[in-house]
Amino acid sequence: MTAALRSTGLPLFAGLPGDISVSFEFFPPKTEKMEEQLWSAITELAPLAPSFVSVTYGAGGSTRERTHATVARLVRETDLVPAAHLTCVGASKDEIAEIADQYWEAGVRHIVALRGDPPAQSGRFVAHPEGYGSAAELVAGLKARHDFDISVAAYPEVHPEALSTQADLDNLKRKIDAGASRAITQFFFSTDAYFRFLDKVLAAGITVPILPGIMPVTSF
Ligand SMILES: Cc1cc2nc3c(=O)[nH]c(=O)nc-3n(C[C@H](O)[C@H](O)[C@H](O)COP(=O)(O)OP(=O)(O)OC[C@H]3O[C@@H](n4cnc5c(N)ncnc54)[C@H](O)[C@@H]3O)c2cc1C
Repeated sequence: MTAALRSTGLPLFAGLPGDISVSFEFFPPKTEKMEEQLWSAITELAPLAPSFVSVTYGAGGSTRERTHATVARLVRETDLVPAAHLTCVGASKDEIAEIADQYWEAGVRHIVALRGDPPAQSGRFVAHPEGYGSAAELVAGLKARHDFDISVAAYPEVHPEALSTQADLDNLKRKIDAGASRAITQFFFSTDAYFRFLDKVLAAGITVPILPGIMPVTSF
């Protein structure tokens, strides 16, 4: 089917009805070649009519400009609804406010607000002295700045730094109470973990959608 469709010049999924509810997560491209591949993938995936497409933010804030450029191009050149990932790592609250303003001005209304992980070599997350210490604080700061639609991260198999399962759920509740309207999960290795997590989330009084994050495993 792939070869046949490609020969027509139509996008890969052009024949599908686009009636599934999905979002796609993209990594900001590092090179011109990767940028071409990304835009070819976006053209192929667009007929599936994703609810939104998000662009990640590199560890340590390393992709700030590339994330912004990719999201801004999605706004300019497609009908897709883009969401920009944004983390607390290595940035003061003022710097984050500036980034948030730039997104708002570019027409971006959806932010995936994360604490973030530090660059691989530097170990544990340490908050910037004038920055946000957690995703919940970031959500509150973004909401106070603009009325963004905000997604946050959730962990069916519990975040590795959480003191306990309950502490992790309490943290998710803080993020929702701060103004997030949905959570997207870390990928999980058993669907049972996801469904059990949904039960705990509901029992904790969290009623926003919890979107399962699915990652195709491409290397053994
Ligand atoms: C869907 C998804 C997308 C992601 N995209 C990116 C990305 O683009 N770039 C990137 O760098 N990373 C990304 N990440 C990874 C994420 O940044 C890491 O998992 C990070 O370690 C935690 O981020 P968080 O937003 O969940 O942090 P938080 O919600 O702040 O939680 C971090 C940890 O601290 C604990 N905690 C927070 N507040 C408190 C408190 N008051 N008391 C006690 N414990 C507390 C939590 O339980 C948790 O263990 C993504 C993760 C997911 C699931």
